[in-house]
Amino acid sequence: MRERSNVFAGIALERNAERRDDPAWAAAQCADPHARFLLLGADAPGGRPALTQPALSALRWLDQEECRRFAPGIVPTYLGGDDDGPRFSLAVDAALAERAHAELGGAFVDLRHAGRHLPALDAGLFAFARAIAHWHTRARWCGACGSPVALHALGHRGQCTNPACGIEHFPRVDPAMIVIVGWHDRCLLGCQSHWARNHWSTLAGFIEPGESLEDAVRREVFEESGVRVGACTYHSSQPWPFPSSLMLGFTAAAQDPTLRLGRELRDARWFGVEDIVQGLAAGTLILPPRLSVAHQLIAHWLRERSGLELAQLLPDASWRAPHS
Ligand SMILES: [Zn+2]
Repeated sequence: MRERSNVFAGIALERNAERRDDPAWAAAQCADPHARFLLLGADAPGGRPALTQPALSALRWLDQEECRRFAPGIVPTYLGGDDDGPRFSLAVDAALAERAHAELGGAFVDLRHAGRHLPALDAGLFAFARAIAHWHTRARWCGACGSPVALHALGHRGQCTNPACGIEHFPRVDPAMIVIVGWHDRCLLGCQSHWARNHWSTLAGFIEPGESLEDAVRREVFEESGVRVGACTYHSSQPWPFPSSLMLGFTAAAQDPTLRLGRELRDARWFGVEDIVQGLAAGTLILPPRLSVAHQLIAHWLRERSGLELAQLLPDASWRAPHS
């Protein structure tokens, strides 16, 4: 299962989506003495941070008593449950976060940092919690009539409070495609105009309404690089809550390698295996971190072409085993 190697993917927790609307079941989950609560701090430039254990070894889950002390009156959002009990997230303001940090220790860490260091389940749960918390801040008012929206189903459904309207609102996910394009023994990487000149990655872009994923792959690659793509094949996906994307990874074959740069890229080039090996060794090529599906797509291409493992070519040891 390729997606299991994508950070934030494959959360081993039962979401119980079909039960969240049952008030009796929901109340029992909230009152469960084994319930644990993830504390999300106030919105920050890097998004809401989460409280972690010292040295980023794991998330710092609060028990029921700590929940009452550090998040009084905050309605928890259900994430899911396993044999150890239900898990929730609590989005608090800066003052409550400060107090919890002062008394519980640990640290508030942003998701990009957490994704590189936390165990896989914790990183995935943090990503899930952060995505839902972001939606809550964007769904407070009905987009149809402007009335307040009330949250139901343990935080997973909104409903307009205006009886004449009453429409439902659901968390939004914005699909974006990301693709590694191959041409014989080379692959296409781009350098965006605001990146350093030695940073290269796969091409990506959002899906437009009325567009298939495959059509979006062909359109974006052509717009950014001028390359015409034929066949494209789904690889794997990754939740990417920065703030609400879902990355859909593809491999694709170019019909013609001619490059004609669009506005988004500073440069685009065809890289052979040796270009990647030598560039990484010399430090003249910086590829996206293990955190991203772009990294997994490049690793996949390299493995298919040469049998080489990208992780073994990287100079930064911390990229090799972020979940160990
Ligand atoms: Zn409404």
